[in-house]
Amino acid sequence: MPGTDAVRDRLEARLAALGARVERIEEAQREPLDDDLSEQAVAREDDEALDGIERAAIEDIAHIRQALARLDAGTYGQCVACGEVIAEARLDALPNATRCINCAHDADG
Ligand SMILES: [Zn+2]
Repeated sequence: MPGTDAVRDRLEARLAALGARVERIEEAQREPLDDDLSEQAVAREDDEALDGIERAAIEDIAHIRQALARLDAGTYGQCVACGEVIAEARLDALPNATRCINCAHDADG
């Protein structure tokens, strides 16, 4: 399959970026709370927002790892539902897509 090296590079770059993001979030959360109570409330709200971002990033990391595993196995770009080749434009937009546009549509509906 042509272009898998480029796909792998892109997935690995994304993995590195997400890993760095998670690390930054964890660092931010390790910072001690401010003595000021109102500041603490803001910090806690920030923490909750960061938790959401961190969870999403960790989920993305898992998906990207799966995509890399599929690259290794030679099944990358194949729809897990119907086995058809996933359109390149779709993989460009969603490098870790596991379903072709038709099956993704069915799953959403
Ligand atoms: Zn499909």
